[in-house]
Amino acid sequence: MKLYPRLFLSHLLVICVALGAVLLISETLASAFIRHHVAQMITLIGPDGASLRPDLERGVRSTLNAALLASLPLALVVAALTALFSARRVVKSVELLRDGSHAIATGNYERRLPEEGRDELTDVARHFNRMAAALQTVEQGRVELISNVAHELRTPLSALRGYAEAMNDGVMTPEAVSGAILRETAAMERLAQDLSVVSRVEAGAVELHSSDFAPSALLLDAFERFAGAYEERGVALFRAEAVALPPITADFERASQILANLLGNALRHTPRGGHVTLGAEHQGGDVLFTVMDTGGGIPPEHLDRIFERFYRVDPARTRGDGSGVGLTIARGLAARMGGSLTVSSSPQGSIFTLKLLAAHVH
Ligand code: ADP
Repeated sequence: MKLYPRLFLSHLLVICVALGAVLLISETLASAFIRHHVAQMITLIGPDGASLRPDLERGVRSTLNAALLASLPLALVVAALTALFSARRVVKSVELLRDGSHAIATGNYERRLPEEGRDELTDVARHFNRMAAALQTVEQGRVELISNVAHELRTPLSALRGYAEAMNDGVMTPEAVSGAILRETAAMERLAQDLSVVSRVEAGAVELHSSDFAPSALLLDAFERFAGAYEERGVALFRAEAVALPPITADFERASQILANLLGNALRHTPRGGHVTLGAEHQGGDVLFTVMDTGGGIPPEHLDRIFERFYRVDPARTRGDGSGVGLTIARGLAARMGGSLTVSSSPQGSIFTLKLLAAHVH
C-alpha cells in the first residue's frame, strides 16, 4: 500500500480509538456526574423534588447521549480531514526527497530540497542538500580533472608530432629530435607521477611514517638540497636560525617534499639578485616553517586558487616548469599530517607558511 493511504488509515485508526474511548469513558463517568447535578436540582426544587429524581436522571442522560451521537459524525469528518491534511504534508516531504534522490541518481547534481521548517524531515532535507552539494563538487572536480589532463597531454603530444614532422621534412636532425622527444616524455612522465600522487593525496591514501624530529633537521635538509640550484640562478638562499624550537611530529620525507616544492617555486619566481628566506618559529602547539621570497608576488585574486589542481597564475610562463599540482599535493600532505599550508603575498614577494604539530612532551 502507498504511504499516503497508509498514513491516512493509521491516523483514522487513532481517531476511531480516541472517539470510542471518549464514548466509553463518558458512559462510565456520566452516571456519577448526572447523579450529582440532579441532586443539586432537587435541592433547588424543594421537598417535592425527590419523586422527580428517576425522571430527571433519565432525561439528562438521554439528552447527553443524543448530543454525543449527533456530534460524533461531524467530529469524525473534521478529524478525518485533519488526518488527510497532516498525512499529505508528510507524504509531500517524502515525495520531494524521492524526486530529489532520483534527480541526483540521474546526474542532476544541482537539485536541492526546500529547507523550511524545524522538524526531522527538514533535517533530512538539510543533510540531503549537503550531500548533493558535496557530490556536485566531486563531479565538477572530476570533469575539471579530465579536461585538465586532456589539456596537459595535448601540448606535449602536439610537440612530439611537430618534431616527427620536422625530422621527416629534414628540418631537424634525428639527434635534435631525440633530445626534444626525451624532454617532452620526461615532462609527461612527471605529469603522470604527479597525477598519481595527487589522486592518492586527495583520497587520503598516502601512507605516513611519522616520527619526532628537530625542525632544524628539516630546515637543513631543505637548505642543502637547494643551495646549489639557488647559487646557479643567482638567488640568495638564507636559513634563519631555528632556536629553541620544540621537536615536531611529522613524516620527515613528506615534510621535506613540501618544503622542496615551496623552495622550487620561490626560486622559479624570484629574479636573479633576489633572495629567499627559509625560517621556522614556535607558535602555540605548532611549529611554523616559512618560505619567504622577493619575487613579484601573487595577485590577490589568484591567491586562493593556487592550491587548486593545475591552477597557474600565468599558464604560458610556467608551462614546462611544473605540472601545476605541486601546491595541491603540498597542501594535501600538510593536512594529512595534521598541519596546514597557507600563503600571503604582496608585490614585494610571497610568504608560504607550513604549519606542523609540535611533538607531545611526555
Ligand atoms: P607549478 O607546477 O605551476 O609550480 P604549483 O601548484 O606549485 O604548480 O603552483 C601553482 C601556481 O602558483 C604556479 O603556477 C605559480 O603561478 C604560483 N606560485 C607558486 N609559488 C609561487 C611563488 N613563490 N611566487 C609567485 N607565484 C607562485
